Amino acid sequence: MDVLERTRALLAEHDPAGTDRLDFLRARFDAGLAWVHFPPGLGGLGAPRSEQAVVDAELAAARAPDNDPRRIGIGLGMAAPTILRYGTEEQKQRFLRPLWTGEEVWCQLFSEPGAGSDLAALGTRAVRDGDGWVVDGQKVWTSIAHAARWAILIARTDPDLPKHRGISYFVCDMTDPGVEVRPLRQLTGEAEFNEVFLTGVRIPDTHRIGAVGEGWQVAQTTLNNERVAIGGQATPREGGLIGVVADTWRARPELRTHELHQRLLKGWLDAEVIRQTGERLRQQLTSGQPGPEGAAMKLAFARLAQELSGLEVELLGEEGLGYDDWTMTRPEVVDFTGREAGYRYLRAKGNSIEGGSSEILRNVIAERVLGLPAEPRTDKDLPWKELPR
Ligand SMILES: Cc1cc2nc3c(=O)[nH]c(=O)nc-3n(C[C@H](O)[C@H](O)[C@H](O)COP(=O)(O)OP(=O)(O)OC[C@H]3O[C@@H](n4cnc5c(N)ncnc54)[C@H](O)[C@@H]3O)c2cc1C
Repeated sequence: MDVLERTRALLAEHDPAGTDRLDFLRARFDAGLAWVHFPPGLGGLGAPRSEQAVVDAELAAARAPDNDPRRIGIGLGMAAPTILRYGTEEQKQRFLRPLWTGEEVWCQLFSEPGAGSDLAALGTRAVRDGDGWVVDGQKVWTSIAHAARWAILIARTDPDLPKHRGISYFVCDMTDPGVEVRPLRQLTGEAEFNEVFLTGVRIPDTHRIGAVGEGWQVAQTTLNNERVAIGGQATPREGGLIGVVADTWRARPELRTHELHQRLLKGWLDAEVIRQTGERLRQQLTSGQPGPEGAAMKLAFARLAQELSGLEVELLGEEGLGYDDWTMTRPEVVDFTGREAGYRYLRAKGNSIEGGSSEILRNVIAERVLGLPAEPRTDKDLPWKELPR
């Protein structure tokens, strides 16, 4: 049976109109139609990634429920590819199904107050204790931690080694009593991210991903996938922010000027170039893990989002400066295009910071894509505990 026949068989057995949403998603996963390029038994068929489009189109036409990828973006975009590549068979079996169906939401405990761009400098400690680890430290800017069941976490397991070598990668249970999540209110007024305090958090060794001390390599898989997840989402032509701005342009002819028209046209072309580059990148992914090219996508996405949201505010004049609602909310979905122009303008500011700041991504592109000389790194071989803090 090819993927189309399998999709039709799924629909015949589980009529979307009469099947509970979660039951349908579980059945879809078990039929290997969740992410067709994953192995059989783990929601896939070992098929080319490009065949996913066939499944998605057939299910959309039948109005089948989806798993709300925006709500579970960190799990889908970052945790899943990392677990698939480095996880044990037990970890894959335990985590991937509820991750994909959205029954379990994930967050990412990477950034720290003293280590953001220089992530390898992180100081959260994981100390071996019998058949597990005890973790103490603080993380920051943790998107959706308030809704998360699990977290991908990196922590220092050997302070005597240089900073990149003494890190290990874990799955942290966000319901552990040692995990405290505190909202951080953002420029937009809402608190989509958090500070997370970890005090004596016990993590079984079975929740370590990859070898002890090799967390940095594992994290590279997460970070490369994160950039593609943020910058390379599949969108239709004139989807995303350019669609919103173009609609405003069409609906409000009285606001137009020649200069704004030129900027809109340039934005439209840039959006189309980025969209097609993203498509090419997704096709490249079918033959392996994303490389540093994802950094270019994320960089271009962030720049365009800021240009377009700025253009929209200017187009709307005084009206664009008004803000719809400052009530503190705790959204569970990161919404780049939602609400009104003022919200989009402010939210887009975060695009050039989250998932690696634009300055750092330029370094990645310079060194790993263009092969230019690397920045001097005097601390590379020093033991982490001797680094100045
Ligand atoms: C909306 C949002 C959501 C986020 N969600 C998460 C999350 O879920 N989980 C998580 O772990 N983190 C998350 N982050 C954190 C994000 O990854 C970090 O903010 C980011 O990596 C930058 O680190 P920093 O804030 O510590 O800035 P710093 O490292 O202090 O950098 C400050 C500035 O200096 C520049 N800079 C630093 N070093 C260099 C250099 N060598 N060369 C040139 N410029 C440099 C940076 O680019 C930046 O502009 C989120 C951030 C935002 C804004």
